[in-house]
Amino acid sequence: MPIDALAGLDDEQRAAAEALHGPVVILAGAGTGKTRAITHRIAHGVSAGQHDPRRTLAVTFTTRAAGEMRGRLRGLGVDGVQVRTFHAAALRQLRYFWPRLSGGEFPDVLPSKARLVAEAASRCRLPTDSATVRDLASDLEWAKVNLLEGEAIGARAAALGRSLAADAPAVEQVRLAYEDAKSTRGLIDFEDVLLVTVGALDNRPDIADEVRSAYRWFTVDEYQDVNPLQQRLLDVWLGDRDDVCVVGDANQTIYSFTGATPAYLTGFRQRYPDATEVRLVRCYRSTPQIVDLANRVIGAGPSAATDLVLRSQREAAPEPTIDAYDDDVDEAAQVARRAREYLDSGVPAREIAVLFRINAQSAEIEEAFAEAGVPVILKGTERFFDRAEVREAVTRLRGAARAGAAGPLPDEVRAVLSAMGWTPEAPRTSGAVRERWESLVALVTLAEELATKLDDSLTAFVAELDSRAELQHAPVADGVTLASIHAAKGLEWPVVFVVGCSEGLLPLQHAETDDQVEEERRLAYVAITRAADRLHLSWARSRQPGGRQTRSLSRFIEEAVGVARPSPGEARGFVRRGSGRARGERRQKGPATCRICRKSLVTARERTLGRCEGCPAEVNVDLLDALREWRLQTARSQEVPAYFVFTDVTLLAIAEQEPRDEEALAGIPGIGPRKLADYGEHVLDLVASYS
Ligand code: ATP
Ligand code: MG
Repeated sequence: MPIDALAGLDDEQRAAAEALHGPVVILAGAGTGKTRAITHRIAHGVSAGQHDPRRTLAVTFTTRAAGEMRGRLRGLGVDGVQVRTFHAAALRQLRYFWPRLSGGEFPDVLPSKARLVAEAASRCRLPTDSATVRDLASDLEWAKVNLLEGEAIGARAAALGRSLAADAPAVEQVRLAYEDAKSTRGLIDFEDVLLVTVGALDNRPDIADEVRSAYRWFTVDEYQDVNPLQQRLLDVWLGDRDDVCVVGDANQTIYSFTGATPAYLTGFRQRYPDATEVRLVRCYRSTPQIVDLANRVIGAGPSAATDLVLRSQREAAPEPTIDAYDDDVDEAAQVARRAREYLDSGVPAREIAVLFRINAQSAEIEEAFAEAGVPVILKGTERFFDRAEVREAVTRLRGAARAGAAGPLPDEVRAVLSAMGWTPEAPRTSGAVRERWESLVALVTLAEELATKLDDSLTAFVAELDSRAELQHAPVADGVTLASIHAAKGLEWPVVFVVGCSEGLLPLQHAETDDQVEEERRLAYVAITRAADRLHLSWARSRQPGGRQTRSLSRFIEEAVGVARPSPGEARGFVRRGSGRARGERRQKGPATCRICRKSLVTARERTLGRCEGCPAEVNVDLLDALREWRLQTARSQEVPAYFVFTDVTLLAIAEQEPRDEEALAGIPGIGPRKLADYGEHVLDLVASYS
């Protein structure tokens, strides 16, 4: 019995679902029903007899999202549609055509580039220490997904301000040596799966014809995170056809460090001028309180898209909470305790999630939940003690303990783990290389914490690791989800905890350029918008108990909550417990000294103002009034909240500093290229007429 696939869609979603021919693009914010619209569109195409399910391919970015979409399609009575990641779809096609491409067996896919890159680096007489090797490996990955070879690598890196692990000609030499070593051994790597598939479709008309007749209708979810290599694959699948539906949210671009770009999404209409374009703003997922916070976080960014402001369709609900704790251990314990309270009050464990910025943060949480007797399920990441590098580390530590170790425990552990790539400094990159390093750091930190308690005994440390691993391994059928923000993309839970909402973690310490910080802001936005009913944000002032309390509340939250306050003082509209400000707080980076007293500035508000809260400043009051009035009119005509145009602090900063040209205006935090283009001229006119 076919189900009416159009029932349960709003007008805009329905417009998308009914556009069954030609290109379609849906641009919309989090929780507005993008995934729902495309799933129903596929179902409608099938039930209306317009699309053949067996010739329909839907692509998503994670295996888990693919599973979710398959389930939803089944629920709509649709069978036979292929829902896969780009990688899985390419791998399947490649395996199928392999006998025709080459006589031999299908090659093994390299699980990690490290060994071959080390070999290549040594052939090129470059250092082969683990830090260099992992940075080179991530440069090679980046070059491959961006389809760069030869001099283009250096040129693009220079254009993006990306620092390579070695000078560009040397990186190119390593790349050639690596590719050579790989093909000599008959291996392929992760990116090759896509590259070889693209090559096969480009060069073999017979294979291209076959693939194109097998797949007629294409859908891509989370299209803001497509990289040039994936886009090439989509292009060769399509050939000269245009039956493709893409959906995405530029504000949720969280993979640009690997080469993904929202340009394909935002430029879709340029490429296909006839495309049906649909925009959704009604957020069905989250309560007005959560949506307001999400809008503020993204809206305070210099490049927020005003056309993606979310409007909650839900009933009012409790405010998100923001809690400060002394250290990570305390934070994890308190989150576990609150999760326990939810369970005790009848909320099922699967309706709760704890999200973190980097996988290494999960070790602490896993432990606290185990102690509180709350079962957990890890998403997109293995349990800490199941990770390959952690298992290897424990094996090595066990060996060292047997061999008899004598020094202080942390030194012993560092010595063993440096053979595996532990270094005091973090790698420059994100991704797998970084995650591995973070796991090793988590073990070193644990050794530092336990050194005294364990009398510096490596044997006792290994026994402790074993018992922690045991504690985490109770089999679970249902549990609280622990996931990195990246792995949580596209998913939703009634109750969400976001831990580590501090400077250094969100944004991550190594986010240095403005672009990197904005990517972190989008991650914060993704995290917040996973919550449907209840949202709990938290952070810790120091990493270890008794450690130096150097952290401060994430600037993204500080700015968002800060603008909710009419005057300095207690936060209004947000439940904020604990002191929002750490003792001995420290500025992370950037030119942030007070323009009056030259002291360094701490909070987001102070940084925007360019002065300390306490320092006297002259405000052009008439200008401020005029700016406020202009903002009100602009917000009304664009139907967005006023703070989306500019926050109060930004207006105050303009009225104090009276910028006379674009450059001066752009120097005020919170005013990026997009806001400059949209509002710069008006604001400068106002400054000129009131100064
Ligand atoms: P994200 O940007 O996070 O991927 P999304 O835009 O894909 O979000 P969905 O996951 O499709 O959003 O939908 C969010 C929630 O809202 C889901 O629980 C979905 O069932 C619900 N929803 C979407 N559209 C409607 C609608 N028209 N009526 C009722 N509920 C809806
Ligand atoms: Mg979605």
